[in-house]
Amino acid sequence: MRDFSADHRWLSINTATVRAQWPLDRIVDECARRGIRAISPWRDQVAAVGLQAVARQIRDLGLALSGYCRGGMFPASTREARQLALEDNRRAVDEAKTLDAPCLVLVVGGLPGALAGRPEHKDIAAARQEVRDGIAATLAYAQDVGMPLAIEPLHPMYAADRACVNTLEQALDLCDALDPSRSGALGVAVDLYHVWWDPKLQQQIARAGRERLLAFHVCDWLVPTRDLLNDRGMMGDGVIDIPRIRGWVEDAGFAGYSEVEIFSSENWWKRDGGEVLATCIERHRCAV
Ligand code: ZN
Repeated sequence: MRDFSADHRWLSINTATVRAQWPLDRIVDECARRGIRAISPWRDQVAAVGLQAVARQIRDLGLALSGYCRGGMFPASTREARQLALEDNRRAVDEAKTLDAPCLVLVVGGLPGALAGRPEHKDIAAARQEVRDGIAATLAYAQDVGMPLAIEPLHPMYAADRACVNTLEQALDLCDALDPSRSGALGVAVDLYHVWWDPKLQQQIARAGRERLLAFHVCDWLVPTRDLLNDRGMMGDGVIDIPRIRGWVEDAGFAGYSEVEIFSSENWWKRDGGEVLATCIERHRCAV
């Protein structure tokens, strides 16, 4: 297992972590200034600054991406809406390519309408079939472009509104069905916030292997957790044994960045951005 204690060369910052403090161009500068070599930006942050401007800035500063957030949200109750989702996913693939991302992260979606508080039906099996169809269609396009897709299983508490793919096993079953040759075009994003509790985690990480492990997201699970979406903890402040799981991921062949992704409306989003990045660097060395 790699030793992270001496430097932060394998630290990436998911730019949602300081999204409340700074626009993306500032985040990129602040990360580069601190020797942070990689980021993972969100589409809305990129759009706010401009895709070409962000691509140029990242290139000029010599930064890398550890992923691009995000595609997905496939299920919909009409054919037209499903078609619009596929078109949007193709745009996300193109943006990821322009930014030279190593993968496009997919948050696959749940019951249509649920995210807006108005679920249109109760058929989660149908939603899962639409997810499978949506990934298959997007994969065909992404393979042409040369952009790997990383399915991110989300904690089951989000099954209704954000993602009905909820375990690493389920995500890997999709990968095996849609990319049986393990070509590298389809894999998973392992976000510890979503999967740390899973009794099959170690086994499924080993199953994933190097070809499927496309991204590794870290934060911590706070006790108590006060908000299901925006109360993620800083590494070391909660109950996830992060180094142990990183060991499993590296044993399986992953050698990429540990991407810090913290949504924290009551704590980290209220602090000075420089303090947040300094804490990420420090905890990356001692708690990741
Ligand atoms: Zn994540």
